[in-house]
Amino acid sequence: MSRPVRIAGAEFLGGHGDRVQVGIHHTIARQDGWLNLEESSIIEEAADLAKQLGSPRDHMVHRMTSQNTPENRYARQRQFAPIGVEGQRRIESAGVAVLGCGALGTVAAEILTRAGVGRLKLIDRDVVEWTNLQRQSLFVEDDAIQGVSKADVARRRLHRINSSIDLSAEVIDVTADNIDGTLDGMDLVIDACDNFSLRLLLNDWSLQTRTAWVHGGCVGAAGQVRLFDGQGTPCFRCLVSEVPPPGAVQTCDTAGVVGAATHAIASLQAGEAIKWLSGNRDAVRRSVLSLDFWQNRIREITISETLSKTCRACHDRQYDFLEGRKEAADQTFALCGRDSVQVAGMGNVRLDLQAIARRWAGLGAVQETAFFIRLHFDETTSLTLFRDGRAVIAGTQQISEARSLYDRYVG
Ligand SMILES: [Zn+2]
Repeated sequence: MSRPVRIAGAEFLGGHGDRVQVGIHHTIARQDGWLNLEESSIIEEAADLAKQLGSPRDHMVHRMTSQNTPENRYARQRQFAPIGVEGQRRIESAGVAVLGCGALGTVAAEILTRAGVGRLKLIDRDVVEWTNLQRQSLFVEDDAIQGVSKADVARRRLHRINSSIDLSAEVIDVTADNIDGTLDGMDLVIDACDNFSLRLLLNDWSLQTRTAWVHGGCVGAAGQVRLFDGQGTPCFRCLVSEVPPPGAVQTCDTAGVVGAATHAIASLQAGEAIKWLSGNRDAVRRSVLSLDFWQNRIREITISETLSKTCRACHDRQYDFLEGRKEAADQTFALCGRDSVQVAGMGNVRLDLQAIARRWAGLGAVQETAFFIRLHFDETTSLTLFRDGRAVIAGTQQISEARSLYDRYVG
């Protein structure tokens, strides 16, 4: 009896509608980015047809057999006793948002996709750049050349890994105004973002909605991981009470980052998420795991009760970032008639501009004056930073792009 044969890479054929007749005996049905060639069990024949249809990619032809069932896909994970049948069922019914599709987000998202998380939402405001390829494992050279949206291309790649889960992408800058709508209905959030103001906003949202999230951060060759359950103390704000002033902390764009370290941190984040989602909540680590891969140092940091007792978020239930970010967002605006965006400062700060300028050395031409420093990315794009933390990003009118550059190069 003949069986359907799947032809991958079929999305490149385009424009065929749902079903097309190919020759006399074969029908091709479009399905989830695949073409199913029906009434054939001969792989060579399917490959030949795919080639005739003109797909620019090498074809991977895959015979559908009774082995390729959803049950079989997760067999090894289900076999792991703490997960089992019930844990796997829970994973498959869970919704997870991955906030940021960079070095941590792409890796964590792939692990969760393969593990069979039922709904996965990918969120990122940026496009793929050439410097991302060193560590952001879902992206290829073409993505950077074309400058495609990270969230969308990640969704398409993950769909080819597991077409049975519900994947969605949002290309947005998450703020206090839209965080509810963006994360609504999620059982857990992976923190794969690149700045502290968004983490503190996520922390507030998590406490308000009692939703778990897994913090992860990595700069240079060091990083840390901890799941916060959103049910009460402690929380992320116990550790980081305010957004560090601009320029106070290193970012991947100023200090560099090692791909082996980001993969390990993201893997640990996905691991905590799987424990939580599969119902193994006792197995979740209760300390902050801090790893320095270069110094070969592993530390476990317990968040002290003293810190929790003075925490505005989890103790006092004051959600400053959920309430207050709106004001900062309103102060970020495109400058009329100029191809520039102004990003608001942090209020009462006096930056050490010379120190930040030193950190920028090697990233582009740096101009220093008594009042500001300016980093030229190319002929048209530059970032001018003032002592009060205010910045003007020239070469764009996109607020999200300006914020992204600010978070990456100022912090
Ligand atoms: Zn707290």
